[in-house]
Amino acid sequence: MESVKTRTTAERVAYNDAAFREANESIREKADEWQMQGLLPALCECADTSCRVVLRLTPRQYEDIRANPRWFINAHGHHRSAKGWVRIVAEHDRFVVVEKIGEAGEIVEQLDPRAEESARNR
Ligand SMILES: [Zn+2]
Repeated sequence: MESVKTRTTAERVAYNDAAFREANESIREKADEWQMQGLLPALCECADTSCRVVLRLTPRQYEDIRANPRWFINAHGHHRSAKGWVRIVAEHDRFVVVEKIGEAGEIVEQLDPRAEESARNR
């Protein structure tokens, strides 16, 4: 296991965002389980490890973002913490959708929990 220090910025950005994505996937599952109505709470999936912003979006918006393994939910302005490893693909009132690019994009694609799931179901 390599130490965190030797990781590149792209890797740090990718792993941090992927961790938030996994947390949001659990929230999404719970929302289904509890048959929650209305907007879904989701953690900001930016590269700042201390960020605790909770965003709200419709289940449909969430699913649209999750359909792309490189897409993440960010609070406005938080994409800057990714140090150039993201580009904004959509802007909404409450949040922006960012796409991980380059090496960071490749890593998050490998870390996509939904990709693992579909591989298991094959
Ligand atoms: Zn954030």
